Amino acid sequence: MKQLRIEKENTDRVSLKRRIRMNIILNALRSNGSLSLTELSRQTGFNVPTITNLVKKLEAEDYLIREKSHGPGQGRPPQCIRINTSARYVVGLDLGRFNTNIILVDLSRKIIYKKRFHTLNLQEPKVIDQLLNEITNAIQESGVKFSKILGVGMAIPGLVNCKLGRSYTFLNFKDKPIRDVFEKRLDLPVFIENDARSMALGELWFGLAKDAKNALCLNIGWGIGLGIITNGRIYYGNDGFAGEFGHILIKENGHLCQCGKYGCLESLASGRAIAEQVRQIVRNGKDSMLLKLVDGNIDIINAETVVRAAQMGDQLSIEIFEQAGKYIGQGLAILINLFNPEVVILGGRVSQAGRFLLNPIQTEANKRALPHISERAKIVVSELGNLSGALGATTLVKKEIFETAHLDVSGLV
Ligand SMILES: [Zn+2]
Repeated sequence: MKQLRIEKENTDRVSLKRRIRMNIILNALRSNGSLSLTELSRQTGFNVPTITNLVKKLEAEDYLIREKSHGPGQGRPPQCIRINTSARYVVGLDLGRFNTNIILVDLSRKIIYKKRFHTLNLQEPKVIDQLLNEITNAIQESGVKFSKILGVGMAIPGLVNCKLGRSYTFLNFKDKPIRDVFEKRLDLPVFIENDARSMALGELWFGLAKDAKNALCLNIGWGIGLGIITNGRIYYGNDGFAGEFGHILIKENGHLCQCGKYGCLESLASGRAIAEQVRQIVRNGKDSMLLKLVDGNIDIINAETVVRAAQMGDQLSIEIFEQAGKYIGQGLAILINLFNPEVVILGGRVSQAGRFLLNPIQTEANKRALPHISERAKIVVSELGNLSGALGATTLVKKEIFETAHLDVSGLV
């Protein structure tokens, strides 16, 4: 991991060139599975002697495994090369206001450890110690050697500038970027990103945006975030804050939002808003299955409880999702007109409501967006489940060894 940090600095022209080529080889193997040297040469455009040389280096670092191909035909089977998925591991955290998911994955997307824990207040410094403890415990409990950990990726809600390593809405305590605080304490490379963009990265690598060039990923949880994929890459905006979909105006003179403005989408259709609305209606005497689910304790009703009640056929919960879906669809229609996506992926805990949320979103988007554009934009629920944010966070680290876009190639041109 030291080596990753040094390589990040891109000081040496020759090693940078080699690093780019190694990443290209690893990425070709990631996309294709097992390849022979000739196939790898065809895929990457490098000649066989160059490939042989680079493969040796990657083998020395334990990244590759040679295996005999079981293809048809007589004679000596050609050797194939594939990634040694247990060569390194990555820690991914999806930080929530109330709960955090932490996972460890190998170099494929196999999850070898997962835990969900209650998060301390993300605006108080003591949460740093809690997160550091959870990360070290997770590595210990997983049984993976510390030296095999490539790095830690963290998905954080609110405003995050991943390049500077700074988080502004939460975990913003001192002058020092929060990423650097974690790196120093853990002695590991750490990468941070906004949770919705992190989720979009997960969808791009493992999920329903895998083959998409232009996609929108809505993270509907405590708030509402958006990850924008254009031409197969995440769109960041000037300061890395693009995608604050939750704070577009939907209702003139609406409720006060967390951001200090009124009538934002988030104040009407987020998990927090849904739970608040339901609690209020039930308190006012409306009969609902929710009361049974929480043993009469209305205060503990949250978005997940409403999802469960809707799935059991609770009319109030279904109506609430219907209304929330209408608001989200209203905003989404604008996005569809603006971005012309091929797919819109709904993720986050509230998206677990499935058709109860998807159907009204679809209806409203169809009604409001230009038909020619909306007809071609598929709206789907993520298949990565509740761990999509944490899986996305692991790709923040993995892209360091599989992608080249982050490497400064200006010195090579
Ligand atoms: Zn707002």
